[in-house]
Amino acid sequence: MFLADTHTHSSYSFDSSSSVEQMIQGARQRQVDVLCLTEHCDFWPDGRCLHYQKGEQACEKQMLALRGAGQKPQVLYGVELGQPQVNPAEARALLARHDYDMVIGSIHTLSDGRDIYGTRYTGLDVCESVFDRYFSDVEDLLAFGDFDTLGHLDYPMRVMGGLWPAPTLAPYRERIAPLLKELARQGKALEVNTKGCREWFRQPGPERWALELFRQYGGRLVTTGSDAHKPQNCGQDLLAAQALLRAAGFDCIATFERRQPRLHKI
Ligand SMILES: [Zn+2]
Ligand SMILES: [Zn+2]
Repeated sequence: MFLADTHTHSSYSFDSSSSVEQMIQGARQRQVDVLCLTEHCDFWPDGRCLHYQKGEQACEKQMLALRGAGQKPQVLYGVELGQPQVNPAEARALLARHDYDMVIGSIHTLSDGRDIYGTRYTGLDVCESVFDRYFSDVEDLLAFGDFDTLGHLDYPMRVMGGLWPAPTLAPYRERIAPLLKELARQGKALEVNTKGCREWFRQPGPERWALELFRQYGGRLVTTGSDAHKPQNCGQDLLAAQALLRAAGFDCIATFERRQPRLHKI
């Protein structure tokens, strides 16, 4: 059994107050083999996350030291780029400055300025307009292209409990299919994120049909992450993610070192 948690946050991210040591300890308690800290760096047309900017040097120093420490879990240095396509120059400059192991590409804020978590979901029409914009932003993220794995494809669903009728992205299958096709064509990874197990829909995501489509299009790289912001969530539900992946036909998961994939049997 090989466990990789390649989506986690410490206090170098604006929304976590856990130290890197606490996150490592949390991962160790769940027998995680590889832990990648992927701190938030979100982008806007006129700049990027100030919190990340402030801790950038300290984070790099600590992560590079831990990367060479030879402990279990193996600790890797990552980053989660939020909508880097809205400021590609800043995003590429960040990537050029750091010797990251893994880069997650995500959408947290829509290109019309709406924060997906901060939006007031007053009806199904709001959910639909968020999804509509979200998938077109994912398309732009793919066109930007400088990341290793596509983070939490089902992200907007997390905040739609009570309004979104069923725990599925199936109504958007036609929108999602070309995104997965392009992701596979670029040879990038698709992330299975287990945060959904701690949300109203109680399952890792994206769903099996999306993973099967990705595989059908030639996608071979998949990553697994808890999206933990606290040590107690580190490594949580990774076996559920692996079971989902096996059901969809995958027999390996990927980790990235210096942005090169390494495959591990599951
Ligand atoms: Zn995220
Ligand atoms: Zn995250």
